[in-house]
Amino acid sequence: MKTRTRVAVIGGGIAGCSTLYHLTQEGWGDVVLIERDELTSGTTWHSAAQVTNFGMNQTMVGLKSHSVALYKKLRDDPEYPVGYHHGDGGIRLANTEEQMLGYRHFASMARGMGVEYEVLDAEECARRHPLISTDNLLGGLWDGEDGDIDPAQLCQALAFHARKAGAEVYRHTNVTALTQHKDDTWTVETDKGSIDADIVVNACGYRVNEVGAMMGVHHPVTSMEHQYFITEDIPAIVEAGHRMPLLRCPISDYYSRQEKNGLLVGFYEQDCKTWGMDGISPSFANDLCPDDLDRVMDVLEGAFERMPALTEVGIKRVVNGPITYTIDGAPLVGQIPGKRNAFCIIGLRAGVGEGGGHGWLLAQQIVHGEAQYDTWCIDPRRFTGHTNVELTALKAIEDYQNEFRFHFPNEHRPAGRMAKTTPLTPVLEAAGAEFTIVNGWERVEFMKPTPDFHVTHGFHYDESFPIVGAEIDAVQNAVGLCEVNGFNRFEITGEDATGFLDRMICGRLPRKQRRVGLAYLLNDQGMLKAEATIANIPASDRGPARIWYGSAAASEFHDMDWLSQHVGADEDVQIKSLTNDQTILVLAGPKARAVMQMVSREDWSKEGFPWLSVRECFIGFAPATVMSVSFSGEHAYEIHVPNASLYAAYTALKAAGETHGLRLFGALAVESMRLEKGYLHWKADILTEFDPFETGLDRFVQMDKADFVGKAALAKRVETGASKRLITMVLAKDHAPAHGGASVMDRDAVVGTVTSGGYGYRVQKNLAYAFVEPAFAPVGTAIKIDILGELIDATVVDPALYDPKMTLVRG
Ligand SMILES: Cc1cc2nc3c(=O)[nH]c(=O)nc-3n(C[C@H](O)[C@H](O)[C@H](O)COP(=O)(O)OP(=O)(O)OC[C@H]3O[C@@H](n4cnc5c(N)ncnc54)[C@H](O)[C@@H]3O)c2cc1C
Repeated sequence: MKTRTRVAVIGGGIAGCSTLYHLTQEGWGDVVLIERDELTSGTTWHSAAQVTNFGMNQTMVGLKSHSVALYKKLRDDPEYPVGYHHGDGGIRLANTEEQMLGYRHFASMARGMGVEYEVLDAEECARRHPLISTDNLLGGLWDGEDGDIDPAQLCQALAFHARKAGAEVYRHTNVTALTQHKDDTWTVETDKGSIDADIVVNACGYRVNEVGAMMGVHHPVTSMEHQYFITEDIPAIVEAGHRMPLLRCPISDYYSRQEKNGLLVGFYEQDCKTWGMDGISPSFANDLCPDDLDRVMDVLEGAFERMPALTEVGIKRVVNGPITYTIDGAPLVGQIPGKRNAFCIIGLRAGVGEGGGHGWLLAQQIVHGEAQYDTWCIDPRRFTGHTNVELTALKAIEDYQNEFRFHFPNEHRPAGRMAKTTPLTPVLEAAGAEFTIVNGWERVEFMKPTPDFHVTHGFHYDESFPIVGAEIDAVQNAVGLCEVNGFNRFEITGEDATGFLDRMICGRLPRKQRRVGLAYLLNDQGMLKAEATIANIPASDRGPARIWYGSAAASEFHDMDWLSQHVGADEDVQIKSLTNDQTILVLAGPKARAVMQMVSREDWSKEGFPWLSVRECFIGFAPATVMSVSFSGEHAYEIHVPNASLYAAYTALKAAGETHGLRLFGALAVESMRLEKGYLHWKADILTEFDPFETGLDRFVQMDKADFVGKAALAKRVETGASKRLITMVLAKDHAPAHGGASVMDRDAVVGTVTSGGYGYRVQKNLAYAFVEPAFAPVGTAIKIDILGELIDATVVDPALYDPKMTLVRG
């Protein structure tokens, strides 16, 4: 074994092998893989190894397409060919109209990535898969690229090519400890000696938390037992003369693919079982859990009804093995939160199919600092601090039970609720709040008219539509109050704090005390990394002079990593998170000033507290930090209150607001109002795939500033010209929002992708944002959007349709 390497990848399943291979493809040959047993001896060897191209967002579709292309290349490689049945095709079944609409949306979304799915009726499903009955079937989604691969050959081939490019693979070498040094490099201890590495990668499958513990990290990953069986030969398969397509069934939670002349059928039973929660035997390698087909009887029946031929043949083999699930079902691929030079590629539940793509995007992140797609949907930092073993297991069970049932828009499932709350949560619940979840936080979505009110989840506007409209009407014509919890907030102090932040943002930093500004942070490629509200708070009896850095609710670990990595060794900068200590109450509307005057002794006049001001004060007797900023487009106050005083502040505002017609409002109203103002959402409209000019944020960039992170790269991009532009569109129909990912079309060509969409109640228009080719960006351009399979006319409009001159906001 070498004594030093650039990257040590720990774990030789598909995750580790793919990462190793792609690191060499990115040009890094001095890399090693360390495997405690044989390659693929964890989960990979016994995988059903289906390779599907289906994803629910463009990053997932893109990375899966990469897997498919790579696996085809490996299959055709005469030096080390891999067994890969590519192109059997696959069908996802549906028996409700809403599922079918979902498939139409996913087809629209995938088209933007160059991937064509087909939506089929029931008869066509049965024509393509002659074993299935059409009972209780409406249709399905077809993907012609689906297939299955030999997982062991795949990993061996990846390792073979990586070795050829300089990588080394150490088998039967158990990693036993990890030590990080002051210069952020690592020593990896193994039972065969130690190796120093600049960077370590955890790719340890179901042993993820054993290796996590070696670096003091708990990853929100749980293993579930998962079973499939393989049947004897089925005569109808032999007679069909073609291979059977893959099948995925959300009606009864099973999948199948052809195995020799029989079928492999796998199950996601309701009575499912976690695995390894109290530790895993060190000798569990190349191993399986005991068969337990009784457990899957509930879903087995559904499979029998759909494919009656299954009842006529015997079972040859049962496989029951551990499969990893994360707290939200999506893998964790990227930088480990709070750690430097440490990455993970874990929680893969469809890792054989996706692994090629995940290893590719991870290698890009390691080598270049960022991948070519925005990887937030798989970023390990998307959860912040609440993801313990119990909560992870509860969500993993729920996800397993709903494996093929995608979330509908605004659907928030019941497991592990109330993980993050404030003192107001029960108060708002009693007042009728319907909650949405943001990074574990229970946030008001809208206020229900009656306790038993509920919406039908789907892709059209639902029963909450008029309620949201009424909330907005109150905000527009009187005053509304909304709790915004979990908003990320750092307090940045130290002599060099201003200089440091000035370097981090691409625009002008508000330097005057008591002023607030919006700022954008770029990555080294000049692309958008983060968005922050920066407030300068002077020294007071509450603390020294400080800067408050506020950003999106889930961004805490992401932004903390980015900022702290850039603090120079000789800089006096301290960054402290206040995210869990403070909550925002937003007071918005023409009567907001009058309410503030009733609850606080300060001067809230336009002159005394102009737009973009910040001050410390009291709301009644609750200490608060108030900013005059607005996401709604109405005159508004963001009132930041320590959680201990939140109820007091709420009570005071509510009582004062009563005489002014105050109404509570929620996140759906906020979403609508911000669309009318042209305001953006981080990770919906603000993505690492676009620079600030492409995103229409020109006024927040100061290219004549001395320097800032990403400036040189941005300057080069400006020379090349924009690849896409963010636009706002008005749609000709109001039946459904344009969901994120929907394709923007010019005749048959995809020319862009929707990032956000929703109804603007104040302007009475159905609105959408999209990144489109620059030729389609001018205001007035006629364009179409594929919404749920229907081409809807749309027109490009100015971004701020409501109060574009900002008269209302300024009060
Ligand atoms: C029954 C079943 C069916 C499945 N079907 C499919 C399917 O059809 N399609 C699909 O895409 N996915 C499927 N999956 C999931 C897929 O198999 C997994 O997502 C994938 O194999 C996970 O790969 P991995 O590399 O993350 O983990 P693993 O394959 O478990 O690899 C982790 C490796 O890390 C090594 N390791 C652990 N600790 C250490 C240490 N301390 N030092 C050194 N090495 C260490 C282990 O020995 C192991 O080899 C299925 C899973 C199961 C259980």
